[in-house]
Amino acid sequence: MDLILFGMQGAGKGTLSKQLAERYNMKIFETGGELRRLAQEDSELGKKIKSIIEAGHLVSNEVVMEIVENFMKNLNEDTQVIFDGIPRSPEQAKSLNALLDNHNRNYKAVLIEIKKETALSRLTTRRLCKKCKTVYPSTYNEETCTSTLPDSSKCDGELITRKDDTPDAIKTRLQAFEDSTVPAIEIYSDKLIKINGEPTIDEVAKTAFSTLNSLLN
Ligand SMILES: [Zn+2]
Repeated sequence: MDLILFGMQGAGKGTLSKQLAERYNMKIFETGGELRRLAQEDSELGKKIKSIIEAGHLVSNEVVMEIVENFMKNLNEDTQVIFDGIPRSPEQAKSLNALLDNHNRNYKAVLIEIKKETALSRLTTRRLCKKCKTVYPSTYNEETCTSTLPDSSKCDGELITRKDDTPDAIKTRLQAFEDSTVPAIEIYSDKLIKINGEPTIDEVAKTAFSTLNSLLN
């Protein structure tokens, strides 16, 4: 079963998608990461993306779908996928569903629900490691980053507040979610699973595992 993961910024979507991927051996499709990866690649699609990014243009819905198609083509049919951050609009939802149907994929949508106030308070108080970019919630009490780097050393980077995490910028991002992503979520109303994202990260993961366990193998 593939999962299309939805959640307002601050809902813990990225964290949960990593936890699910690890536990159920799933692959994550994350548009930004896939774009960066492909732009380094010496393929036709890679070159196309590189030229769009270098020209400072936004990647169109059509190109995003080309990227998903490329991802699905290289996928073992038994591998379950988590779509993180896509679709962002009803238009994209329709294209994605058509593509998934075309590949005979089974999928459900999962919405991690939090209140707008929770999102605001989480986003204005979170900190970011200057070195490895790990994001830490306000409940994180250490002074420096405790992530393990790819060479297995401890990061120990300085934690800073993100420049784009001003209340106004956050409100703009949350509004975009409401205007564009919420109508996309409505398209999945008959296959939507809601998970309460208000408790701690560990509790949300526990709920998600028990709710989704029967669907994932
Ligand atoms: Zn770090």
